[in-house]
Amino acid sequence: MKIAFYSSKPYDRQYFGEASQDFRHDLTYLEPRLDATTALLAEGYPAVCAFVNDTLDKEVLQTLSKGGTKYVSLRCAGFNNVDLDAARELGIKVVRVPAYSPYSVAEHTLGLILTLNRKIHRAHARIREHNFSLNGLVGFDLHGRTIGIIGTGEIGATFAKIMTGFGCTLLAYDPKPNPACDSLGVKFVTLDELFAQSDIISLHCPLTPQTKYLINPETIGKMKHGVMIINTSRGAVIDTRAAIDGLKSGQIGYLGIDVYEEEGHFFFQDLSDEVIDDDVLARLMTFPNVLITGHQAFFTAEALTAIAHTSLQNLADLEISGQCANTVGG
Ligand code: NAD
Repeated sequence: MKIAFYSSKPYDRQYFGEASQDFRHDLTYLEPRLDATTALLAEGYPAVCAFVNDTLDKEVLQTLSKGGTKYVSLRCAGFNNVDLDAARELGIKVVRVPAYSPYSVAEHTLGLILTLNRKIHRAHARIREHNFSLNGLVGFDLHGRTIGIIGTGEIGATFAKIMTGFGCTLLAYDPKPNPACDSLGVKFVTLDELFAQSDIISLHCPLTPQTKYLINPETIGKMKHGVMIINTSRGAVIDTRAAIDGLKSGQIGYLGIDVYEEEGHFFFQDLSDEVIDDDVLARLMTFPNVLITGHQAFFTAEALTAIAHTSLQNLADLEISGQCANTVGG
């Protein structure tokens, strides 16, 4: 199948290049992000392969449909960037990679926690300047602390399993609790209980209308003073302005984010010669107790291999039978 591959990077070409040897697809790598101005590039392509910050709203889907696109293969788990109703109306099937390596994201989550807690990012910067002072670098033992996990799917449950090794008390909230968490000693509680009792809160839910701005002035107010919040899910689960207020007052003691609600303008690009015109992001970058990574939690060799294979298999399934188990939105 001819596939227009948007937002392509050198690593995509490497991993999809290797995986495509098992398929008979014809991939055209396009560097631009998919949006209303670039959708025409897919004219004549029955399939489009898109990533987390590509825009698949009604206007874009209409242009794709007019150009003959029938399938959208998301090379990611989340599908919050797709207007699924519009896709259904236009007869475009949307498929995704529901699970690739939950370890990749869960392990990165732990990396953010340990780095923020033990201030490894600051220690590294200091020592490069020959400053071996420990002032201001005090951390805390994770052992005995309470971790609140919001969303206990593939990644949340994997993260819970990792944290059992640290001797933490594990609380979780999920409208559909994952039974795999029971044997890990995870206690499912209400959101309010989780907010009130957790030393560290880690977000592993999808971005939906229910989870948008789940972390907001009111919920931040329900948390322990000095709480650590970690977000590797989707940026808009946190109201970033509210988080900044929480950091300024000290109510939030640490913030680790791999995702940001306006990340589409910045992440995955080298902007080192540019002025950052987003004052919210710029303010976040000034805090010593904020750690930002650019949506790299998934970025392991194992995950990239699995993502490439499943994305291409999904399209092969659709080509052969018109059906795919990884279809989203019916
Ligand atoms: P999953 O579908 O296996 O699990 C999501 C869980 O969230 C489910 O158990 C679901 O019941 C729960 N949930 C739904 N609504 C909720 C709510 N209102 N409150 C609490 N929980 C809720 O997904 P996953 O593979 O574990 O991934 C979780 C999220 O992580 C994805 O949706 C995606 O946004 C994000 N993600 C980020 C990266 C990254 O690189 N940063 C990579 C992969 C996935």
